[in-house]
Amino acid sequence: MASLYPHDLNVDLHMHSTASDGALDPADLVARAVANGVQIMALTDHDTVAGQAAAREAAQRSGVHYVHGVEISVTWGGETIHVVGLDFDPNHTGLLETLSAIQVGRLGRARAMARGLVDHGLPDVFDQAMGYAQNPTLIGRTHFARALVAQGICSDMNTVFQRFLTPGKPGYLAHQWASLSQAVGAIRGAGGVAVLAHPARYRLSAIGHWALLDEFKALGGSAIEVVTGSHTEKEARRFQQVAVEHQLHASRGSDFHAVGESRFDVGAVPPLPDATRPVWHGWAH
Ligand code: AMP
Ligand code: MN
Ligand code: MN
Ligand code: MN
Repeated sequence: MASLYPHDLNVDLHMHSTASDGALDPADLVARAVANGVQIMALTDHDTVAGQAAAREAAQRSGVHYVHGVEISVTWGGETIHVVGLDFDPNHTGLLETLSAIQVGRLGRARAMARGLVDHGLPDVFDQAMGYAQNPTLIGRTHFARALVAQGICSDMNTVFQRFLTPGKPGYLAHQWASLSQAVGAIRGAGGVAVLAHPARYRLSAIGHWALLDEFKALGGSAIEVVTGSHTEKEARRFQQVAVEHQLHASRGSDFHAVGESRFDVGAVPPLPDATRPVWHGWAH
């Protein structure tokens, strides 16, 4: 790996396992990453580090460079924002406490989501959704979407989200996640790097984006995802510019969840543009 320029490495720093809302267990996910030629990887489950030891051990057995990861749910300006943490101590007490506090709210939210769907005339899929969540405290919208597809209510996940699980729709519930300061603070406190995930997904004005990035940086955030499975090529170009303007490092991740659900396979998103400094610069070479 020593001779490769950092942009040329196949790096995937955003993906999910059965510890949150992915379909593969951590070891199978690592095997898939290795088969796809990934050289540096992080498993970044929503609001949990439960899969970290298994992923790290599998990665070490197969010679892929592993960094610990997590994707923390945040409420900022009324919008849900995701902050990826990388390369931290997964046993750090402050981080574990922050993640537990977020998990506590998920079960009650899931019950309310199920009620909202039933009130709308749909079948009660609470038990089925819970059955898809290997870790009940990580129950989320993806598990409900899988249940509604399995029931034949919609033909694919994207349609379920659009019709039922996004703001203003019957199965959506406004929810208070962690604050930006709690999320970035927990990641930094555990020795990690905080990365703003898929920035193009947030419904913010240009000024809103600017304010978010300012606050994120002031709190100690240092990178944004430029290339992600959630960005179009145009969005990646836009946020490459943003990374340069705000002097933020750039990250790359597939956001892979499951075969047949995710737009990109593990390690299969486009490379980072040359103009940006990769967040993995200095990690593994
Ligand atoms: P939650 O944390 O429970 O609000 O669930 C958020 C998750 O839902 C995201 O991490 C994605 O995995 C999934 N998701 C959100 N929007 C969509 C969409 N349009 N299509 C498929 N999955 C989505
Ligand atoms: Mn997800
Ligand atoms: Mn996300
Ligand atoms: Mn994700």
